[in-house]
Amino acid sequence: MDTSRATATHTAAERPVVGRFAPTPSGRMHLGNIFAALVAWLSARSAGGRVILRIEDLDPRTQSGPWADLLLSDLHWLGLDWDEGPYYQRDRIDRYQAALNALKEAATVYPCFCTRAELHAASAPHASDGTPIYAGTCRGLSPAEVAERSRRRPPAQRLAVPTADDPTGTIAFVDRVYGPQREVLARECGDFLVQRSDGVFAYQLAVVVDDAEMGVTEVVRGHDLLSSTARQIHLQRLLGYRQPAYAHVPLLMAPDGRRLSKRDRDLDMEGLREQFGTPERLLGWLAGSTGLAPDRAPRSASELVGLFSWDTVRAHRDDLVIG
Ligand code: GLU
Repeated sequence: MDTSRATATHTAAERPVVGRFAPTPSGRMHLGNIFAALVAWLSARSAGGRVILRIEDLDPRTQSGPWADLLLSDLHWLGLDWDEGPYYQRDRIDRYQAALNALKEAATVYPCFCTRAELHAASAPHASDGTPIYAGTCRGLSPAEVAERSRRRPPAQRLAVPTADDPTGTIAFVDRVYGPQREVLARECGDFLVQRSDGVFAYQLAVVVDDAEMGVTEVVRGHDLLSSTARQIHLQRLLGYRQPAYAHVPLLMAPDGRRLSKRDRDLDMEGLREQFGTPERLLGWLAGSTGLAPDRAPRSASELVGLFSWDTVRAHRDDLVIG
């Protein structure tokens, strides 16, 4: 049985499609973000669905600066419109706190006093996204030790994942682009943070709460977040939320094999708007370069809706070189 198709049909039949774009305002949008936003938008619009915009400004360091306003203006310019939002995560802290309380009822959440240096000790095994797998150092602290250490520094909060032999700790799902995925949390991720020691809620928790409360049915985002998905599904199950469909889109590469990043100034929206002049020329070029359109002729976002299919995204997932 083709499970991805069965899931998609099931979702479409029962719930109208709700997609979202959830940028972090830590810099100007660049070509990679534009591609992920475009695919998220095309997927929702081609299914007659709705689009939500959520600004992920949880980290106080990203709350200042012009980036959130520039994001809105760049999306407007591109013609990637939305039906709901923008929501700002900084306005939703109470909801994350409520979810953390619920999580404490459903699973073991424990205070962690480890410093960055301790976590990044040379001997620590690393997960596929480069973060160290937590050794469990603080899992067994007694209440007296916790009280003693809390006097010196505030702790972060960590969720204990099931042991490797517990089937609830093995997360399997089908990604629309990358196919079947499976992760044993204890082995590939370890106990993970749900709140930092400065009180900021972890992205993993906030994103799960927001996607569920906003009724998101499909999560379309960059491939760099594929490795977060198992943690997010685990949190959804603990909190009793429905699981959205997942589609991770390839990251764009420069011709020399580097991943495009915020450092490529000429590929951020400021440079791109200057270089291309109109949204149609930029989107047509991007769509033609990534297989979303048969050529690089100028096209508006709406004109690309009729051409969209997940098969084309899948077909080009390994060779998205932009130059
Ligand atoms: N805020 C994240 C980012 O900009 C994306 C989160 C998501 O789409 O789940 O990388």
